[in-house]
Amino acid sequence: MRKSLIAGNWKMHGSLSQVKSLVDNIKQGAGAYTDIDILVLPVFVHLALVHDLLSHTPVMWGAQNLYLGTQGAYTGEVSGPMLKELGCQYVLIGHSERRTIFREDLPLLAAKFKAALDAGLKPILCVGETRAQRENGETEAVVREQLESVIAFAGISAFAQAVIAYEPVWAIGTGLTATPEQAQEVHAYIRDLITQNNVDIAKTIRILYGGSMKPDNAASLLAKPDIDGGLIGGASLDAGSFLAICAAASREPTAAIK
Ligand code: PEP
Repeated sequence: MRKSLIAGNWKMHGSLSQVKSLVDNIKQGAGAYTDIDILVLPVFVHLALVHDLLSHTPVMWGAQNLYLGTQGAYTGEVSGPMLKELGCQYVLIGHSERRTIFREDLPLLAAKFKAALDAGLKPILCVGETRAQRENGETEAVVREQLESVIAFAGISAFAQAVIAYEPVWAIGTGLTATPEQAQEVHAYIRDLITQNNVDIAKTIRILYGGSMKPDNAASLLAKPDIDGGLIGGASLDAGSFLAICAAASREPTAAIK
């Protein structure tokens, strides 16, 4: 049985005071859902505050990106060991906004995935197709290429410590959501692909869905057998909505009452 993971990607949002109030509210509600993992991913400059606020609570935190190596002349970048020192447990790799806006290509993302593991962080590898790619019937080919480039570089055993997030690009921040059936189809494809490389890892790896997941669609998505949690953007900036998604993922009695 895989433990659900609900992760909030805060993107480039929040002031110190907004982050404090968001974290305080999530912290208060999160204790009701002890059977799931809850993770928040703030911007780099808010990590020290989040570290102070969330230490000794069940809510975990991580980062949205990293650069390779430990330190060096890479102006504007942040390394895995720096994130680890701030208590990060997870880091996003290959979010579609990094792939498109910042032109991060397959070799760089494979190296970042490995850099995360080398620093003792768990990478959350984001994969997914654009609307045009889906309409052209290329969804599986795109997802396969994004996964296989990392498997070839880091080795399948590296995925024992990783999470995969299937995020159809056309659903991110658009209010459009993949239907539970569409999402399940790709999640099953991803798990099959991992199975071909390592059966045990395929059984245990968590595959999250991301793309306009909200309180009103979370339960139907999370009910699918290969959907093991959510990567939430917009709805994670509101503690009530984020906690409602946690409730949908949880089997705790208090979650069932809502
Ligand atoms: C994301 O940023 O990973 C995401 C899924 O965003 P949203 O929930 O806003 O679509």
